[in-house]
Amino acid sequence: MTAPHFVIPAPPQASLPVVGEAGAFPVRRIWCVGRNYLEHIREMGNDERDPPFFFAKHADMLVPDGAVIPYPSLTKDMHHEVEMIVAMKSGGANIPVEKALEYIYGYAVGIDLTRRDLQIASRKKERPWEIGKSFEYSAPCSAVQPASKIGHPTKGKIWLSVNGAERQKGDLTELIWSVPEIIWKLSQQVEIGAGDIIMTGTPAGVAALVPGDKIECGVDGVGTLKVSIGEPRR
Ligand code: MN
Repeated sequence: MTAPHFVIPAPPQASLPVVGEAGAFPVRRIWCVGRNYLEHIREMGNDERDPPFFFAKHADMLVPDGAVIPYPSLTKDMHHEVEMIVAMKSGGANIPVEKALEYIYGYAVGIDLTRRDLQIASRKKERPWEIGKSFEYSAPCSAVQPASKIGHPTKGKIWLSVNGAERQKGDLTELIWSVPEIIWKLSQQVEIGAGDIIMTGTPAGVAALVPGDKIECGVDGVGTLKVSIGEPRR
């Protein structure tokens, strides 16, 4: 569906910078995996044997490295969840697990910011998670590292600190569902497309953020990301 012109100005194309490239990575959809590290499943009191499931954020919710994020509305308990991000260069439905790596452009570091109080309230009422997961500035993300330069990371520390104190720590070896398995499963649910990015789940140590907090996080071999939390918007 391509229109020759629009009746209102077209929204801008969301994108991420790419390390070592002048061109940017255009972002189509943001998918997130729920529950993919054992210690985080335990800290949230969930079933360890559940298969992976997915929720989405919108591409215009991305926040670049170095940004100040206004504290969001409605919540009193916004949490950080550091995650490795997979950036897709191509897609399709029913991608075989053994071919999944061929569809990947690169990797980045992101934070799945979560209004935990609202997420838990919606979960209890068996309502969708959007109110807890999908809001302005909810997807800070680093520049993308091309897989052609760094390969496909399967081990290495994933960490997050707030005001210099370590809060989250894990290793990519602890992912319950590997990156190829995530792509295989997600592509059964929807057709993955070029420009889709996937947040692959968070290790243990999620906790609340307040205005003034300075967050630094990273994945060994992929990169780092720094953002801070500002006052709520009026
Ligand atoms: Mn998450």
